[in-house]
Amino acid sequence: MDTKDLMLKRENAWDVFDDETQKAVFDFSEDYKAFLDAGKTERECVNAAVKMLERCGFENLESKSSVQAGDKVYKNIHGKGLMAVVVGREDLTCGMNMLGAHIDSPRIDLKPMPLYEDEDMAFFKTHYYGGIKKYQWSTMPLALHGVIFNQDGEKMEVVVGEDDSDPVFTINEILVHLSQEQLTRKGAEVVKAEEMNVLVGGLPLKDKEEKQRVKAAVMTLLYDKYKITEKDFISAEFELVPAHKAKDIGFDRSFIGAYGQDDRVCAYTALRAICDIEAPEKTCVCMLSDKEEVGSGGNTGAQSRLYENAVRMLLAKCDGTFDSYKYYTCIENSKMLSSDVTAAFEPSYPSAYDKSNSAFAGKGVCLMKYTGSRGKGGCNDANSEFFAEVTRMFDREGIVWQTGELGRVDLGGGGTIAVYMANLGMNVIDCGVPVLSMHSPFEVTSKADVYATYGGFKKFLTV
Ligand code: MN
Ligand code: MN
Repeated sequence: MDTKDLMLKRENAWDVFDDETQKAVFDFSEDYKAFLDAGKTERECVNAAVKMLERCGFENLESKSSVQAGDKVYKNIHGKGLMAVVVGREDLTCGMNMLGAHIDSPRIDLKPMPLYEDEDMAFFKTHYYGGIKKYQWSTMPLALHGVIFNQDGEKMEVVVGEDDSDPVFTINEILVHLSQEQLTRKGAEVVKAEEMNVLVGGLPLKDKEEKQRVKAAVMTLLYDKYKITEKDFISAEFELVPAHKAKDIGFDRSFIGAYGQDDRVCAYTALRAICDIEAPEKTCVCMLSDKEEVGSGGNTGAQSRLYENAVRMLLAKCDGTFDSYKYYTCIENSKMLSSDVTAAFEPSYPSAYDKSNSAFAGKGVCLMKYTGSRGKGGCNDANSEFFAEVTRMFDREGIVWQTGELGRVDLGGGGTIAVYMANLGMNVIDCGVPVLSMHSPFEVTSKADVYATYGGFKKFLTV
């Protein structure tokens, strides 16, 4: 064998794509950016996904009395998660080919009692969600998304800050002229959680008798518009997210910059992949889960039994009866790409990575045998048999792929839904798009990797 064939070549995906594919990459990216702008919260992502699926002929599984090969169905998990299925010709006990991405992203949530006034300014108190560098989220325009039940018990869906004519919100910080003390703080404390207060108003009520005139004026505005009182905030779910839209990056427009690409980039590519599937041999599944950034718990997180119950419902509607032995056989024979992002090598910070075991922007979809931290802690370590099957299939099908670990050992780490899905008994491996500035308000991906991931997901479902 020629010695050059003995060595692994890391190909640049742009070099592999022909002109026609390159055009498809750029077209795909336009649709992806629109999806990012339409879904900045898990709830909005589910709504956008259902719209996409219904346009492609998917029906609500609950509304169908029976299901057969070729049917396209979905199950909504409390409006924050989703299972989309294309039923295969093979019996379900032969297993399913599954893609599993998450649709929650790091963000700034409101505290249950958020509104207060200080020095004639009104603020919201916040409690951040997921792993963030807190200082990255101050002094930027933020939009408020959420749901709140008003005095009439009506669910109000609130979005402020996305329309060009909307006001936005922001977390103020101390000016650099007076930051000598602040800048001696450790990075994690440059901005502390209790300092992440969001400016929401400054126009006092005319009534001078009122003690908190700005807060009262804000509450009056909110009551007039949504019929809500301060008490209603307690049960509300409000998320502050960057107000900016998804953008192309670079003179050559080869990258995408946007909020929430972890993990909506894999959610979107997985959705697009399943929408392309017609009459498959194996049953194909796209699972979108919530709460990954806080451990996949809750009834909408990947550890929720409701995702399992969707498969049980599918089996029952295929067979007309439910058999738990058949269910476990189906799970045992199923395969999943835990469709989640990984860290792309950032050349300005080389010491954070082991370069030979890192994923790179522009070198294709990344397969990861394991994640975890402090010695693979909490990881799914994919079986070699399954990993080899996937890499050989990708090679055969011309998918540009790479592998990588999440940075240098002992530096940190992270997890995905892989371990929870593997706990059920199926074979799982992490697979997704490398991201620059992950978990920041403006995450960056290579358009080539987004497209390679879509291609890889589609082949995984059907080959
Ligand atoms: Mn993720
Ligand atoms: Mn994440």
